Amino acid sequence: MIREPLLFVATCDVSGRVRGKAFPLELLEKRAGRGVGWTPTNVQITCFDAIAESPYGSLGDLLLVPDRDSRVTVDFQDGSPAEDFMLGDILTLDGAPWECCTRSILKSALKRLEDIAGARLVGAFEHEFHLKAGEGGGAYSMEGYRNRAAFAATLMAAIKTAGLKPDTVMKEYGVGQYEVTISPERGVRAADAGLVLREMVRATARRFDDEASFTPIRHPDGVGNGVHIHLSFEDSSGRPATYDENGPHGMSAITQGFVAGVLKYLDSIVAFTAPSSVSYLRLTPHRWSAAFNNLGVRDREASVRICPTTARDPEGVARQYNIEFRAADAAASPHLALAAIVHAGVQGIVEKLEAPKATQEDLSLLDPAALAARGFTRLPQSLGEAIERMMANETVRGWFPAGFCEVYRDHKLGELKFLGDRSVLDQCKAYEAVY
Ligand code: GLU
Ligand code: MG
Repeated sequence: MIREPLLFVATCDVSGRVRGKAFPLELLEKRAGRGVGWTPTNVQITCFDAIAESPYGSLGDLLLVPDRDSRVTVDFQDGSPAEDFMLGDILTLDGAPWECCTRSILKSALKRLEDIAGARLVGAFEHEFHLKAGEGGGAYSMEGYRNRAAFAATLMAAIKTAGLKPDTVMKEYGVGQYEVTISPERGVRAADAGLVLREMVRATARRFDDEASFTPIRHPDGVGNGVHIHLSFEDSSGRPATYDENGPHGMSAITQGFVAGVLKYLDSIVAFTAPSSVSYLRLTPHRWSAAFNNLGVRDREASVRICPTTARDPEGVARQYNIEFRAADAAASPHLALAAIVHAGVQGIVEKLEAPKATQEDLSLLDPAALAARGFTRLPQSLGEAIERMMANETVRGWFPAGFCEVYRDHKLGELKFLGDRSVLDQCKAYEAVY
């Protein structure tokens, strides 16, 4: 059959789903400048495709403009059309970033980090997901890996061809659950890579007549699919700036303030990083996710974890040293989640917050008074509560373009309205169907 080569321009919007339009590749010159038309009310299309209340109604026009540097071209050589796409920024007709463009919001957060701390962000998104066909095999097992070895090999080839650096792939703990990691990328590309990775997993699964889901949790009694965001900093000349051998647990001054800010504002930003109703089933104690605003050193129950280094020389340690944000999942746009984390971190630097003390205990054993006395907060336990805390925090709202948080709140309320009084199990099924 005849086929016109097409290029898709994509945005990962506030619903965490990837949307966009395709155009003939031969029109790239024209489209790279002018983009494709986009509609403001699209921002209120929830993950379930039901439209939440929109301040824009049927009015307005925007442009989704592809960023040529983000192009991904992967031909699986199986006769199917190649994956060919670019990530785009949503701009107004005058060419200014639109207030609800997640990628533009991240760019301005990164600029704030650079302006205030002189630091550039390096980041990697570690993703867990499950494949729907079959159980997969035992936790971390070779047999489980072998069952999907062809998938794993094709996935790693796709990731590499997409311009990312494949790191590891494994059979994770849960039923049918896998994990894939990639090497860090700089700046906005770190979040772009998160989006590209998810799409490569989906695209590869499809070529194996399977389907992947990144839903935050598949079953209320099951394990969650986390997104663990690894973060480090470089100074303006590209030297590692996260580590200081004399700092607490090796944290540099920038890292100390940044981590303190993330933990101080965590309860008000999980609405962006873990933004589904079922995300709050995962953010509970003893699931190796995150339930409190605590720092851990190699503790997988902490919201922010200082990761181990394996290098033996000081230079290598400084380059490897990174912190991991664990209170995120793939219902979030990687761009918006990272923007919220970066803003919270920069706020900690601005406020000159002291380095938090690392915990090494089960915080779920403390009652609320004992937690509060030590400066800990239990993270919100529902999406509604997370949205309330976000809206109640003026500092947090101030990081985003005017009006954005109200739009975001209404989006999430629309999502909850769609779920109505469904049981928790039915909510899990609804999210699994769309993520
Ligand atoms: N599945 C866990 C989560 O929901 C993480 C397990 C791990 O540490 O890899 O975040
Ligand atoms: Mg894992």
